[in-house]
Amino acid sequence: TDRKSIDIKSLARDLRSGSRAALARAITLVESRRGDHQALARELVQMLLPDTGKAVRVGITGSPGVGKSTTIDVLGSYLIEQGHKVAVLAVDPSSARSGGSILGDKTRMARLSASDDAFIRPSPSSGTLGGVAAKTREAMLLCEAAGFGVVLVETVGIGQSETAVCDMTDFFLGLMLPGGGDELQGIKKGLVELADMIAINKADGDNLKRANITAADYRGALHILTPRSEHWHPPVVTYSALAGTGIAELWQKVLDHRKAMNASGDFAMRRRDQQVKWMWSMLEQRMLARLRSEASVRMKVKKIETEVAEGHLTPALAAEKILELLQ
Ligand code: GDP
Repeated sequence: TDRKSIDIKSLARDLRSGSRAALARAITLVESRRGDHQALARELVQMLLPDTGKAVRVGITGSPGVGKSTTIDVLGSYLIEQGHKVAVLAVDPSSARSGGSILGDKTRMARLSASDDAFIRPSPSSGTLGGVAAKTREAMLLCEAAGFGVVLVETVGIGQSETAVCDMTDFFLGLMLPGGGDELQGIKKGLVELADMIAINKADGDNLKRANITAADYRGALHILTPRSEHWHPPVVTYSALAGTGIAELWQKVLDHRKAMNASGDFAMRRRDQQVKWMWSMLEQRMLARLRSEASVRMKVKKIETEVAEGHLTPALAAEKILELLQ
C-alpha cells in the first residue's frame, strides 16, 4: 500500500458506516511505523474525531489465569445480547519481545469472536509501552467512530501497563482470584488505587466460600484507602465467568459508576485530563522518535551521548544540545 493508494476519505466513510474491514485497515494504518502512514493516520483520526467519545470505555486487568478472556467472552456476549456493539482491544507491553500477544486473542474468546457485533484486536506488537498504549488509544477512537458502544481494553498487571489503560478508560476493573494467600496482592501493586471496582472471579463450586472471604478482605482494605473520587467508593463483587453468574450485576456497577460520575462532573473531568495527558505522551514519543529516525540526528545524539559517558559534557548541557537538534 503506497501513499496514493490509501484514500483516507473513503476509508473514513466505510469505517463510519460500521465496516469491520475498514476498521481493521484503519487500525493497521495507525499501527504502521512508516512516516507517511503515520501522517495519514493522524489525518484520519482527526477527521473522525467528531464521531468519537461516545463509548463506555472499560479497562480490565488481572494476572494470567485469573479469567480475563473468559470474562470478556461472557461479558461481551451479554452486552451484545443487550443490543450493544462490543470492541475488545489490548495493551500488552511484553508482546514487543515475544512478537505476539496472547491478549485479545480471538481463539480465547470463541463466543464473542463468532458475533458480527464484536470486533477483537490483539495488542500492537511493537514499540515501547508508551507507543503500544498510544496506538491502542487511537484504535479505541476508531472503534467508537465505527459505532462500537462498548470498548473493553484488556491488560495484564505488568509495570505501568495498568496505569496506561486506566488513563484511556472511564472505568478500570481489577480481576482477582478467590483466596490463595495472595489475595491482597493488588494492594501492594497499587492496582487497588486505580481500580473502580474489584471483581473476584471463579466464585463457583468449591471456591464460593473462599471468594466471599476474599471479597470481604478487599472491602476491608479498600475501606482504609482514600477513594479517587468522593462520588464513588469502589465496590467489591464476586462472579463466575464460567457459570455466567454475577455478570449482569457486574455491568450494572459500571453503569452506576457512569451515572454517578456524570452527575458530579467527574466524568467530563476525567476525559479532559486524559486528553491532555495523552497529548503530552504523544509529544514525548514523537520527539524521541525524531531523535531516532533521522540518521544525521541519530549520529549527533550518539556523539553527545559518548561525550557524556566519558565525562566531557554534563548531562544537563547534553540535554540542552539534544533539544536544539529538535528545532
Ligand atoms: P486469562 O489468562 O486471565 O485470560 O484467563 P482465562 O480466561 O484464560 O482463564 C484461565 C483458566 O481459568 C481457564 O482454564 C478458564 O476455564 C478458567 N476460568 C475462567 N473463569 C472461570 C470461572 O469463573 N470459574 C472457574 N472455575 N474457572 C474459570
